[in-house]
Amino acid sequence: MLEIKNLHARIAEDGTEILKGIDLTIEAGKVHAIMGPNGSGKSTLSYVLAGKDDYEVTEGDILFNGESILELGPDERAAAGFFLAFQYPIEIPGVATMTFLKAAINAQRKARGTSEITTPDFMRLVKETSKRLNISAEMLKRPLNVGFSGGEKKRNEIMQMALLEPKLCILDETDSGLDIDALKVVSDGVNALRSPDRAFVVITHYQRLLDHIVPDVVHVLSAGRIVKTGGPELALELEKNGYADYVGQEAA
Ligand code: ADP
Ligand code: MG
Ligand code: MG
Repeated sequence: MLEIKNLHARIAEDGTEILKGIDLTIEAGKVHAIMGPNGSGKSTLSYVLAGKDDYEVTEGDILFNGESILELGPDERAAAGFFLAFQYPIEIPGVATMTFLKAAINAQRKARGTSEITTPDFMRLVKETSKRLNISAEMLKRPLNVGFSGGEKKRNEIMQMALLEPKLCILDETDSGLDIDALKVVSDGVNALRSPDRAFVVITHYQRLLDHIVPDVVHVLSAGRIVKTGGPELALELEKNGYADYVGQEAA
């Protein structure tokens, strides 16, 4: 589904290279975890995948179902089935969460050249999805993210992910300091949405999220490169020994 080949990327503003040759293949149906110390480039990788224009790809390619997506903007990538969960969700005071979610679905439909979702169909979809994920729809009447607790922001994010039916979900949970409630929302949501035609990239600094979302493959990112790939046991080993074995003492 996703093939990252020798990906090099730099910060557009000052030219600093952050990603220094990443190779990664992610098959449909799989959950890949990317772990690594602070500053190793985990968030940069998620932004480059999403197509954020603060970064420039200088070498290599990103293929989605065999086709390069480098020329596609963030909206086109979303239409193709990418979903990036934001580490720091935006607050929109005047806009009910429900309205925002409907607009997000319609933006995706427009980019795909399909007709807008009708209000009754949208209401039905929200009801089904909130039931399936065990997320209360009450919160959706409130303005987007305003005064939301950490757990509520995560519920909203998972709800959005479910409604958009993405093919590739990228969750960057690195620095968000998830409390137990939020951790459970994210892991239950991901587990409920796991399916044979969907892949997940779960980015996390800490192992504890991976107690709840058991990944198929674990990668260690260090200084812009994947330095180790293994199974779920690799995450446990990192929890015990830290990153020192892979990245050198100073970065661990
Ligand atoms: P991680 O998510 O693994 O902690 P990041 O991808 O956030 O790492 O950052 C990797 C490195 O790139 C850090 O040294 C960070 O300061 C730097 N960096 C990332 N994005 C920017 C940016 N837009 N401007 C300046 N520095 C950046
Ligand atoms: Mg960081
Ligand atoms: Mg980060």
